[in-house]
Amino acid sequence: MSEAEQSPVDDFRQAFCRARQALIHELGAETYDQGEVLYRCSACGAATVLRDAFAGREVSGPIERFLVELTERWLKVRQSLDAKMCTRCQATGPLRALRAFYGHYLAEVGFDFGVDLEFIDETARVVSTWRMDARARVFRLRPPQSELDFHAQTGTYFDLRAGWRSLYSTFAEPDSRGDTVLSEVQSGYVIGVRTGVPGDENPERRHDPHLEHLISRFDQRTFDCVEFIGHTRAAPLPFHGDLAEEWLGPAWGPVSRGEVEIFVLADASEFLSCVEDLGSRRGIAVEWVSPSDDIHVAFHLEGLRLEANFSYPLMRTLHTGRTFYQGAKTFYGPLLDALEDAADILEKVQKNLGDYGVEVVDELVMRITAPAPDDTTEIGRWNLMTLAGRMAFQGSEGEAALLRLLGYDTKSGTFKKPEISLDRCLLCDAPARVGKVLRPKSLKGLDRENVVAVELGEHVVYYTLECPAHSAPIPPGRGRDVRVLEAAWSHGLDESTALLLETRTLTLPKGPAHLLVGYEFAAMVLETERLVALCRAASLMLTGKINVYAFHADAIVVSATPLDGQDRGAARNASLEAVAPRYPTRTWPLDVARPVDLNVEPRGRVERPS
Ligand SMILES: [Zn+2]
Ligand SMILES: [Zn+2]
Repeated sequence: MSEAEQSPVDDFRQAFCRARQALIHELGAETYDQGEVLYRCSACGAATVLRDAFAGREVSGPIERFLVELTERWLKVRQSLDAKMCTRCQATGPLRALRAFYGHYLAEVGFDFGVDLEFIDETARVVSTWRMDARARVFRLRPPQSELDFHAQTGTYFDLRAGWRSLYSTFAEPDSRGDTVLSEVQSGYVIGVRTGVPGDENPERRHDPHLEHLISRFDQRTFDCVEFIGHTRAAPLPFHGDLAEEWLGPAWGPVSRGEVEIFVLADASEFLSCVEDLGSRRGIAVEWVSPSDDIHVAFHLEGLRLEANFSYPLMRTLHTGRTFYQGAKTFYGPLLDALEDAADILEKVQKNLGDYGVEVVDELVMRITAPAPDDTTEIGRWNLMTLAGRMAFQGSEGEAALLRLLGYDTKSGTFKKPEISLDRCLLCDAPARVGKVLRPKSLKGLDRENVVAVELGEHVVYYTLECPAHSAPIPPGRGRDVRVLEAAWSHGLDESTALLLETRTLTLPKGPAHLLVGYEFAAMVLETERLVALCRAASLMLTGKINVYAFHADAIVVSATPLDGQDRGAARNASLEAVAPRYPTRTWPLDVARPVDLNVEPRGRVERPS
């Protein structure tokens, strides 16, 4: 290749690196993977660049397999571009791919990992790889031949789960004599493999001078957390999916028998730093709440405060083979999204309401008061997380729906008692039916004054209007007492639609139970006809008297036999596992149990996500 032909490739590479740097500057740990392909007109040499964004993709290794997949999957479909005509010389026919670059950000070490690929006879191959630091300095790397090679060149793993498998291979090599091996994943996160003692219930207490010597290499750091992964005697973990059994490969056999121990040494404050970093990019501050037994963090944004568990996401991060950054993104990302939505709603209301007072009370509740001189008169209170939960208030239409929900009339600039019709959505006026939702009495932000509710022990049931897109509580008023709403609810059951997101059979010591996941499924504890329709749609062989449990608002567990204490614990954990990623702000405990008789005719539709 002559000098004159090389320069467009160099320009292309430099432009790619600049674009990556800008994206990293903007998104930090949330930077997604990108790829670019350079095409060239065979007649005049004019260049065309095509960019692919891989938002939301979680890479999986090992790296050597990933590199092959780049050439075989991504570049297979990108090797030629069906341009009708070259824009410069008007030559016809497809453009040939010349070169491609791929970037993957390693937040754990602050490097962007880059891959340079070329096309020879329409087949792509890796030319070289590089890492780019925060100051955009590029260091060439040998194309990594293995996960360990990748670690040696970058200081972290491409895929931590593949890293675990590689570390075990090192430990199990014939000439390794079973010496303990340790490897750093990121600051404050070290993984290790050592010989186990089958039956040892407290491996963390076993005297191990060799391990202590190895740990001393990681300077003054305090590892306040030692977790044995997949250890048989470990306390039952409150989660089920993504555990070592699923990704450890050949190492799982000896680990599950206790012959080999794999463990993490972690510094919880480094995990907190990653969560803080994630928040700070979005303008969200993180507060560390009283380091007692059950540590919490609280997120602050524009006067809002959202508290969340800390130990649970940390444990889950370690036991599911995720780095601190991956764990922070997976387990706190949805909460940060919801908090941003809530702040967005608050801002929209403040912008539209002119002289009215709009303020945050009780951390997440929006309070609106009348303009001066009546500014002590309260118009109403709304829980922002509830508002943000299911509704999209994007664009001018969304803004109008939001104001209508609050009862604000934009023409007159006043709050009006909304015209409520029991067959129309309060937000968008689409046909709607009366529904029910179940809440714990103690739920923060539950506005008892503005709902029509029935108490059931420690719980309340209140009525809502449900359209396909919205769910909003029905405010009390003339012609809307419990008797009327109960009749309307019963009348509308055939029109109800349940979106069944997941069905899982739980193998419990006393027999099987079934977990069914979907928005507001807990209400079906009180809606036997809908429950029958749901059980049939899920092909569950249940009839007659059964037991139904709602541990959370958006999942139910059904079982032919009552669950005892231990089974309930396991079922509650499975429920939490299923709802937490889907409804992160709605994981408060509900804990309702009820025997029901399925011997009724099913009512309502059940759908599955398309
Ligand atoms: Zn051309
Ligand atoms: Zn609606």
